Amino acid sequence: MTALSPLVDCFGRVHTSLRLSVTDRCNLRCFYCMPESTQFMPRDEILSYEEIVRFVRVSVRLGINKLRITGGEPLVRSDLPDLIGMLRKIPGIEDIALTTNGIRLSEFAQSLKDAGLQRVNISLDTLEAETFREISRRDGLERVLEGISTAQKVGFEKLRLNALAIRGVNERDIVPLGEFARQQDLELRFIEFMPLDAENNWEMNRVISGADIRETLEVAFCRLVPLELRDRSQPAVDYRFEDGRGRIGFINSVTEPFCSTCNRLRLTPEGQIRNCLFSRVEWDACALLRSGGSDQDLEHLIRDCVRSKKTGHGIDSDDFQKPARSMYQIGG
Ligand code: SAM
Ligand code: SF4
Repeated sequence: MTALSPLVDCFGRVHTSLRLSVTDRCNLRCFYCMPESTQFMPRDEILSYEEIVRFVRVSVRLGINKLRITGGEPLVRSDLPDLIGMLRKIPGIEDIALTTNGIRLSEFAQSLKDAGLQRVNISLDTLEAETFREISRRDGLERVLEGISTAQKVGFEKLRLNALAIRGVNERDIVPLGEFARQQDLELRFIEFMPLDAENNWEMNRVISGADIRETLEVAFCRLVPLELRDRSQPAVDYRFEDGRGRIGFINSVTEPFCSTCNRLRLTPEGQIRNCLFSRVEWDACALLRSGGSDQDLEHLIRDCVRSKKTGHGIDSDDFQKPARSMYQIGG
């Protein structure tokens, strides 16, 4: 039960989901997310686990019940299972999920599961080592595949693959990824390329729409049958293959924005609250956490952030301006 009134914005959207980015560091350098080389945030500016837990406790009193841990790469932060264990103990948290590139998943899958992590999304854009290197500017495909296999053995409630398909880079991977997901009995979600890269290489004509990917998969396999929405605020539209083998989802953030049902808030690694991936304004929770602010102060700050949320990201509008930060600094 929510003790205080819920987090409702000016358009009636009730916020129940919080994305916690625990680091901006990463062991890959995907061109659509990060620059080739960068200066990471100084460690002492990154929130401690205790600070994150305090923020979450206050958020839960305002109705947050779902958490996703992300980054940067969350598994490069030491002792991540400890944070999961701490979050698991907070009454009111119903679901904890992790988004990872999978590079270190083999090492941590069991301890994450033991700590209470329920769901894992693993990013996988290709099954070709060369394309993996081209995208992530590092080697590591084998480790990611090992990570997926270990996570399957450990028995998470839900494992999902996230893929980005970008024109001129990996469109030839769409069908093999579909085949892999079908063989492995994994859910696969395609996310459209968004203007959140660090090197300003995003262009609308590089976005392969979910609709085009769906058509490619239907030609290669069989008809995709839409599934009923499990949750009105879920960003993905999910389908099952008519032959019963495999499920595919599409997050069409660019061509079919789902802003009208968005229920998500974000906390960046250094404790800035954001009401949208594309927001150009942030609310400084870190300053409050480190200057003796009360829980009530934090509550007011969170409410203020939610109240200021815009109707949508506006990527398709002429005056759209990309946020100053890139995906790895915000948390995808
Ligand atoms: N490092 C982890 C990973 O790669 O899964 C977690 C953080 S990453 C920023 C979270 C997700 O954002 C990944 O699935 C990644 O593919 C996606 N992503 C990154 N940049 C993106 C962009 N410009 N457009 C769409 N999705 C993006
Ligand atoms: Fe790292 Fe994930 Fe960004 Fe790739 S998408 S650079 S793995 S944070």
